[in-house]
Amino acid sequence: MIVFLLIFLYSLCSNNKTDKETVSWQTVARRNMVQKQIIERGITDTSVINAMLSIERHKFVPKEYENNAYADYPLPIGEEQTISQPYVVALMTELLALNETDRVLEIGTGSGYQAAILSIIVKDVYTIEIVPSLAQSAQERLKDMGFTNVHVKCGDGFLGWPEAAPFDAIIITCAPPEVPQLLIEQLTEGGRLIVPLGSDFQMLTLYKKAADELQKTEIVPVRFVPMKGLIEEKSNE
Ligand code: SAH
Repeated sequence: MIVFLLIFLYSLCSNNKTDKETVSWQTVARRNMVQKQIIERGITDTSVINAMLSIERHKFVPKEYENNAYADYPLPIGEEQTISQPYVVALMTELLALNETDRVLEIGTGSGYQAAILSIIVKDVYTIEIVPSLAQSAQERLKDMGFTNVHVKCGDGFLGWPEAAPFDAIIITCAPPEVPQLLIEQLTEGGRLIVPLGSDFQMLTLYKKAADELQKTEIVPVRFVPMKGLIEEKSNE
């Protein structure tokens, strides 16, 4: 009797084993990140939640930070730049109220993570990075990972991307003291622009272009690396 019972229990256990999905620590950490940092903090847009669940953030950070890729803070990506905290990526993406037919411009490619998130929500992503080594590594990473609708350019985002304009949405992931006028001009009617605005003190700010007017909404204080290049000359004038 006991032998039968043991065999029965063993078969139960081994069946369970084969039924169980084998998931990597990265997948577990990513699901946890989305639950604790994204959903429980109030992000509700399912396209944003699904994008955060599917993009493998650990592949966008330097090897030595891989174990921290799903933690609740920004991480260094080299050249004194950082990849934003996951919640901030989700919040900025949600605030852009994106549609699958949208074309989006990002200023500050960095690792390419934010561009990858955008690329599975919208039709096309155009992203500009001022540091050549970062632009090149992000471009290679995105290509190797099969993101065919992300276009990376090395240059100064202050000028936007006139050849590809207008954009339904623009996301600036470095902090300018004011929004470059050329970027506003490259927004469609009804377009949205999200930006960490300021220098020492920065406010995440959402603009909406309607009937050639800009509606401005201040969201929450944030901390981003400063925007470099032409904007520095303009603000010193
Ligand atoms: N979105 C990135 C993180 C951005 S960090 C990610 O998902 O990883 C900010 C980036 O903006 C840095 O890489 C910095 O080099 C870049 N940057 C700063 N000034 C810029 C400018 N004028 N034009 C384009 N990129 C700029």
